[in-house]
Amino acid sequence: MVEMTTYDTNNIFAKVMRGEIPNTTVYEDDDVLSFMDIFPQSEGHTLVIPKNTQATNFLDIDPDTLAVLIQRTQKLATAVNNALNPDGIRIIQFNGEAAGQTVFHLHFHIIPAWTGCQMQPHSSNPADAVALQALADKIKVCL
Ligand code: AMP
Repeated sequence: MVEMTTYDTNNIFAKVMRGEIPNTTVYEDDDVLSFMDIFPQSEGHTLVIPKNTQATNFLDIDPDTLAVLIQRTQKLATAVNNALNPDGIRIIQFNGEAAGQTVFHLHFHIIPAWTGCQMQPHSSNPADAVALQALADKIKVCL
């Protein structure tokens, strides 16, 4: 069974949403916040998080909120595709520590892939803040 963690209101993404930790925003509306991953697995690695739920993972979000989140994830993935022209895109979502989840506020990863380019390991190398902002600006233009 996936361990169902109690929602920690001080998890990193909760702090990002409250503005206590800076983020490189790509998109925001009433339902979701999307921002660049600071340990990108590839150039353009983008996260999408729901704003109005304390779901820790895919299993404990209500279906209507999930429906909006997945629609926004598709919108963001399309913008990443148009902005960065990758050969492929991974949409990833981890449930539970055993699966590799490190932040217990539900989120989707949008990870562009290029043929012949090795992806970085999960949460390994920090990105340059200026480079992240440039990527976010490029994606925003395509929204
Ligand atoms: P997961 O391991 O699926 O829970 O993913 C959490 C992701 O959040 C990882 O890819 C981290 O690199 C990323 N991350 C952690 N802290 C931050 C932060 N402050 N801003 C943006 N991304 C972050």
